[in-house]
Parts: sequence; structure tokens; C-alpha cells
Amino acid sequence: MLQHAEIIAIGSELLTPDRLDTNSLFLTERLNSIGIEVELKTIVGDNEERLEQVAREAVKRSALVIATGGLGPTEDDVTKKVFARVLKRQMVLDDQILERIKARFRRRGLEMPANNARQALVPVGGRILDNPAGTAPGLWMEPEGRHVILLPGPPPELKPMFEECCLPRLAELAGGVRLFKQVFKATGITESSLDERIAPIYVKYKNPVTTILASPGEVQIHLTGRGRSEEEARKIVTELADKIEFELGDLIFSRGEENLEQIVGYYLMMREMTLAVAESCTGGLVAQRITSVPGSSSYFLTGVTCYSNRSKIDLAGIPPLVIEMSGAVSAEVAKGLAEGIRLKTGATLGLGITGVAGPAGGSVEKPVGLVHIALSMDSSLDHQELRLAGDRERIRLWASQAALDMVRRKLI
Ligand code: ATP
Ligand code: MG
Repeated sequence: MLQHAEIIAIGSELLTPDRLDTNSLFLTERLNSIGIEVELKTIVGDNEERLEQVAREAVKRSALVIATGGLGPTEDDVTKKVFARVLKRQMVLDDQILERIKARFRRRGLEMPANNARQALVPVGGRILDNPAGTAPGLWMEPEGRHVILLPGPPPELKPMFEECCLPRLAELAGGVRLFKQVFKATGITESSLDERIAPIYVKYKNPVTTILASPGEVQIHLTGRGRSEEEARKIVTELADKIEFELGDLIFSRGEENLEQIVGYYLMMREMTLAVAESCTGGLVAQRITSVPGSSSYFLTGVTCYSNRSKIDLAGIPPLVIEMSGAVSAEVAKGLAEGIRLKTGATLGLGITGVAGPAGGSVEKPVGLVHIALSMDSSLDHQELRLAGDRERIRLWASQAALDMVRRKLI
């Protein structure tokens, strides 16, 4: 039964900051979904000798080796040649591939460059994987019960090829193990306090596996269960998921892929309410996030960035005296922004944010990371003070998350 895999990503550009090896991440996710774990991955530049060393080791130690890239027509595309040598197979010209490549060029009214004939050279005994999205076909070889799969580098070519030509058979070879995944997203709690609350529950379970991932203002809980059928895997996950959900309650804002701005939009739409925001330290980030959701025009009225004191007075109608007395970063100004923008726009909800994002501009009294958020609705005016740690980007992101969550909590 196939349980482990190794990936080799080929291409010098993948070693630079310009291009990320996203193929291996895609492959890992897909392999995990059928119960195959990726134990190792290597990135190799377009260097024949290095690739040969890596390929030789890989086919020795791993029952499944998937290589991506370097199948193209150029001189530096050596993947097939190298694997043929490692697996001691002759390269032969495949007429069918040649004809298909020629036809592809003909359809575009072009003559096939001689270079491209190279792509029709394949190691003998390999299964050819069609490439409807490009010219370089993939290849699946099975030396001595092992599996070596060569896939093209461009993600739009690799993805459909892997889904259609590889995944079904690999799933069979993996013994039909099915995975079911449940994601919870929580906010308003730190990673460590969240873990403190749910660890006593999930440590009792080996299956599903629990993973906790934190980003500014958000903690994700990933539960992955394995079963002999999707149904069984789902049942295994649901048992633990229910307990975690019960423990965390409304700290959880999403049970799937939705992000906070989508959830907030969903509530606003359901309640037929509208929102306007006046932002200082987040500089429009909240408005940007809300409007990134399709259909947000039905509930989002206005977002203004009131960076200067003048603009806080002009755009949100804050009395100059309030800024003078309390300072621009204060509960009073946050409240003034929230109420002011609500009244000026006629929105149901007004959100105001002001803070010190840093790195400069902090004081003993008002340190970097101090953020005031206020939410105005009818006669209610809620306020929250945060003391956030981290750099400017993290503080702004965290503040936007807390602000969106304030709206969510008002509406649930
Ligand atoms: P082609 O026929 O296009 O030459 P190829 O199989 O030779 O295909 P490469 O030349 O290695 O593929 O890469 C083609 C493109 O695909 C490049 O833009 C490269 O950045 C991208 N690419 C290659 N490998 C990966 C990877 N592992 N993850 C993401 N993108 C990749
Ligand atoms: Mg290439």
C-alpha cells in the first residue's frame, strides 16, 4: 500500500525569491487527501548532475517519486533524460506524441520548431500522461513496483494532469483511504489560550489529527480524519469537531473557508443593515477587506481614511475640542469616528478605528500597538481598547480583524 511520497521540484527560478514552488504544495494537499503523506521534498536548479544525484537517491528511498518541471523543449529541460538514465531506460521517439505536438502547432497556424520534437522523446516503458493544456506530456514509470511520475512545471498544466491522470490511480494504490477535513476559524482569543481550552479535548484523539495555525487576530483549527470511506472519515471528524465547537462557542466565526469579512457581509445582508467605516491607523484596510467580498455594495456604504486631525474633523465631524483634549488616539476619537460616519452616511452601523501602528509615534502613555475601536448603532456606542504587539503590518491587520469581529458580535 502506498503511504509515503517524495517530491522533486526542478527549476533554477524556484531557488530564487522570484518564483515559489507552489506545485509541491498543491501536490502535497492532493496526496494528503487520499492518505499519502509527503515525507520529503527537494528543489533542484536546472543542473543535470545535481538532478541526477537527487533522482538516484529518490528512487532508491521512496516508493512514490513525483518530479515537476523541466519537461519543456529547451536545452535546460533535462528531467526525462536524467530519469531515463537513473532508471536505465532507453529514450525513444514516440510518434503519437510527435504527431500531437505537430497538430497543436498546426492549429495555431505555425510550423513546429525542431526543438519541440525533443518533447516526443520518452524513456521506454513509461505511461504517457496527456497534456491538453500544453505540449509537454507527463510520464508515469513503474520501476520494480515503485512509482516515478514526471509532471510539467507550469501549474495550469500540472494541476489538470495530476487530477485526471494520477489521482484516481494513486488513491487506489493508497488502499482507498479517505480523508475528511474540517476547519474552524476563531478570533478574539490568542493561540495559547485557545489551545489551553481545547487541548484536553483533542489530545485524546489520534484520528482525527488536530493542527492549530495562528495569524494576526485569527486562530485556525484543522481537523483531519482518516477512514475507509468518506462517510467514515466524516464521522470520525464530526465527533471531535462537535466537542471543540461546544467548548469555543462564538469565538468560532467560520466552519469552513469563509474569512471574517465574508461572515460580516453575510450577517449584514441577512439583517438588511448597512455599514460605514472611518479609519485612521488601518488606512482603509477594513474597507478594502469588506469590499473584497462580491456583493458588498448592498451593505457597505462608505469608507473614509481620516489620517490627519483635520480630516477627522471634516470627514467624520469630530469636534476639534475632542481631539485637543483626548488626542487623536483615544476612546473619544474612536467613538467620534464611529458615530460621525454613521450619521453622515445614514448607515445602520458606524465603525471607527484609531491607533498607533508604529514603529515611531509611540509614547509611554500611548505606546505603539495601542488601538481604539468603536462601533455605533442607534443609541449604542461600544468601545474596545487593544494593546497589540508586533510590527506595523501585524498591528494594522490585527486591528482590522478586531474591528470586523466587533461588527460580527454586534450582529449575532
Ligand atoms: P515548459 O514546456 O513550459 O518549458 P516545463 O515542464 O519545462 O514546461 P519549466 O520550464 O520548468 O516547465 O517551468 C515552466 C513554468 O512553470 C515557469 O514559469 C515556472 O516558473 C513554472 N513552474 C515550474 N515549476 C514550478 C513549481 N514547482 N511551482 C510553481 N511553478 C512552477
Ligand atoms: Mg521549461
